[in-house]
Amino acid sequence: MAQSVNSTAVENDHSKPIDDLYEELETSEQGLETDDARGRLERYGPNEIEAEEGVSPWRILLEQYTSALIWVLIVAAAVMAVVGHTIDAAVIGGIVVFITLFGFVQDYRAEQSIAALEELSTTHALVRRDGQKVEIDARNVVPGDVIFVESGDIVPADARIVEESNVRVDEAALTGESAGVSKEGGTVDAATSLAERTNMLYKDTVVERGSGTAVVVGTGAETEIGNIASALEAAEDRETPFQTEMDRLGKIIAAGVVGIVAVIAITELAVGETPPLQVFLTAVGVAVSAVPEGLPAVVTLSLALGARRMAEKNALVRRLPIVEALGSVDVICTDKTGTLTEEEMTVQRIVAGRETYEVTGTGYDTDGEFRRNGESVDSERVAEILRCGMLCNNVDIGTREADGETDPSERTYLGDPTEIALFVAAQKAGFDHEELDEAYPRIGEVDFTSARKRMTTLHRTPDGDGNGAGGGDGDENGETIAYMKGAPETVLERCRRELVDGELVELTDDRRAELEAKTEAFAEDALRVMGFAYRPDAPREATEALETDMVFLGLQGMLDPPRPEVPGAIDACLSAGINIVMITGDNAVTARAVGEEIGLRSTRVVTGPELEELGDEELADIVDDVDIFARTSPDHKTRILQMLQKKGHTVAMTGDGVNDAPAVKNADVGVAMGIRGTDVTEQASDIVLLDDNFATIRDAVHGGRRIFDNVRKFVNYLLSGNGGEVTMIFTGSMAGLGLVITPIQILWINVVTDGAPALSMGVDPAADDIMERDPRPRDEGVITTRIVTSIVGIALFMTVCLLPLFTLNFTGRVIPGYDLTGSLFGWEPAYEPSRELAQTMVFTGFVVMEIVRIQAVRLRYGLGIFSNRWLVLAVVVAIALHLLVLYTPTGQLLFDVEPLGVVHWAQIAVSAGVFATLMAVFVKVQDHYFDRY
Ligand code: ADP
Ligand code: MG
Repeated sequence: MAQSVNSTAVENDHSKPIDDLYEELETSEQGLETDDARGRLERYGPNEIEAEEGVSPWRILLEQYTSALIWVLIVAAAVMAVVGHTIDAAVIGGIVVFITLFGFVQDYRAEQSIAALEELSTTHALVRRDGQKVEIDARNVVPGDVIFVESGDIVPADARIVEESNVRVDEAALTGESAGVSKEGGTVDAATSLAERTNMLYKDTVVERGSGTAVVVGTGAETEIGNIASALEAAEDRETPFQTEMDRLGKIIAAGVVGIVAVIAITELAVGETPPLQVFLTAVGVAVSAVPEGLPAVVTLSLALGARRMAEKNALVRRLPIVEALGSVDVICTDKTGTLTEEEMTVQRIVAGRETYEVTGTGYDTDGEFRRNGESVDSERVAEILRCGMLCNNVDIGTREADGETDPSERTYLGDPTEIALFVAAQKAGFDHEELDEAYPRIGEVDFTSARKRMTTLHRTPDGDGNGAGGGDGDENGETIAYMKGAPETVLERCRRELVDGELVELTDDRRAELEAKTEAFAEDALRVMGFAYRPDAPREATEALETDMVFLGLQGMLDPPRPEVPGAIDACLSAGINIVMITGDNAVTARAVGEEIGLRSTRVVTGPELEELGDEELADIVDDVDIFARTSPDHKTRILQMLQKKGHTVAMTGDGVNDAPAVKNADVGVAMGIRGTDVTEQASDIVLLDDNFATIRDAVHGGRRIFDNVRKFVNYLLSGNGGEVTMIFTGSMAGLGLVITPIQILWINVVTDGAPALSMGVDPAADDIMERDPRPRDEGVITTRIVTSIVGIALFMTVCLLPLFTLNFTGRVIPGYDLTGSLFGWEPAYEPSRELAQTMVFTGFVVMEIVRIQAVRLRYGLGIFSNRWLVLAVVVAIALHLLVLYTPTGQLLFDVEPLGVVHWAQIAVSAGVFATLMAVFVKVQDHYFDRY
């Protein structure tokens, strides 16, 4: 880290002449060389505000010892050691070590997964390196870099403005002042306060509009926000609704268990057969086993692992709790352009003057020609409209950093797909953007916004030729020229004349109608249509006022084909009970044509203007039936969202533009676009689609449902198993049988033979029908009434099946004192009954029944025994460990067990068979009364 009293790399960065600043930073307006930048990155460190360094492994290990139950065990071990029960003390000690290591591994993995996710969620910065524009990871920005920002960007570092056009910045993150601040470059007095330094851009503030170039003076912690950031970082809350539910559940169970344990202890002490120490240890064992202390941690781990898996499928989860909401989503409101349709658009038709032309070529390939009625024509005929499309355009050619490396020979288009299409069309006619920029230097811009549906740029005309696009007209003295593009009707509204074969002609009403018909005809073929215009002799100030009295140039229709995977994804969502609503700024006809292609339910369309006419009640009546909202502005999104939420829907909403952030933020699941989207929307979102693809939303919903199922399964499994153990011990004790299983055995079952299988259920594959059932109601938690009945039922079945195993091997009679078998068959057991043997039977019986139970739980989700290799492994290890305990002298010594013979295994098999049958019958009964889950 650079040592500096000033917060940035240079002092008085705002009051120095810019050239001095360049000198001091050893840079220039050409930016840095890659090697230089790499050196600086090492010197200054990454451009991040040191949030808490990833939690240290030691701390995670130590945290394991904050659990009360661990201390109960440690005390128990100490007591055992003191009274001379060294073996018990050693086993409990071993179990403590196991629990802490297991907990450690689990928490550590969860931390790592979460850290890996945070690693992915980075913003990008556009910088000049080696004289070229490069899109890099914002963390790799260094002092001296020349950066470019535009509306919707989050400023990546503290920087001094070099050049700007209409930049307004929201500096609330820094100053708390939410009104935007206009920036203007130049120098300000050294004493100027932070909020008034109009020539500076500060890290993590938001560019509301305009665009600019700036030179970076400070990065990471050495920024103004870095000075105050530690206070902000701490606010982050990671508790998920799952975890809250699990915490609450844990407390309820703990209270219940303490009560039961007390009853068992008092009974045993009163009976006086069991030594008090054994009773104490049993109390400890039951308490530790039955309280699902580890549940919140298991839930976190499965959320984190699930989120990582979703990230591999391009759905980056920014907030873990959202995974739970994903499973309840029943309406997805999605953008059309670039999300439902391909990112690569291609201009296919052009109207210029009175003629319509076709453009050949596919995608972003710059080979292609212009045709009229199938015959090749000179590109001169469409030159004016193409030039407009290239000048009124913010696309750049540059490089994109991949895996921290940039390859300068890999040049790509950087920018909005709509604009890239126009850019490529102009390249087909031989236009070069650098030459064009030089001939028509841009002096201003009126930004595109989704609400305006147009954008205008202001340029100086080439020297010597005073006419610009007007060609040979000669009636203007034009030193400036404005170019506009946008939705056709918006552009037409602002035109009084049109350019036909080099002549300016009045735009008559008939002609307007004709152009509208043309637009409609293009749109019916699912083309995205834009209008183009220019204004010679434009005012020199780039404000909306100059967008009048324009000259219409024509239309360009671009093919924006649906992504091939989208119809399938829509179909999957519809059968999963999720409705799809397309909300687009595009024209109603285009939207409907696309809607039909991708298989929306009914393609009922409401346009933005129609929406504004509707009262809340009218909207409420129809909102469930509308699949397409067209020609909308971003605030329409918010209204549609509110209406859907009011009607009880759980809504996922996508967004890309600056003004989409509020709707994305207020949606139940806010979805941002990783490629096309702005930083602001990304920051407001819960999930980022790294590939901008609608199909990824389906995958995310699928992932969310899967994680929820898995949490539900292992909660069900763990609680019913624990319930069985407590019930069995309780019943045994109440029936005067003493301890049916030793405390050490019960600890071992819960910690070793249950823990790993339960955990591995967290990565179970999805149920086959996961996208065929309806979304889970929002207020339905992990535990349903059905699950409660399962827990109670299973606990009883386990007890019913295990109790005879105990009595038979303890007394030689199924019911002590009643010789049922003997009187029927004259059968006498061929072994010596004993408490040790009986306890070994219950011990083994539990291990077997837990394995049966785990598969039964999964079977309900259509999952086969071998469908999860981690689970198979966990079960195999559990069985192997148990056999070691039973059949090795050490095992027998440590766990006080008797080796079991064939007869015993036969008894266990019968008992497990009865257990499985009872469960199967019970499921049928439950099916009768409850929903499926
Ligand atoms: P969508 O992308 O779904 O069409 P937008 O709100 O982004 O919705 O755009 C609304 C309309 O504005 C588009 O249909 C198009 O006519 C026009 N438009 C889109 N991008 C630009 C742009 N970069 N410059 C000018 N006009 C644009
Ligand atoms: Mg758009």
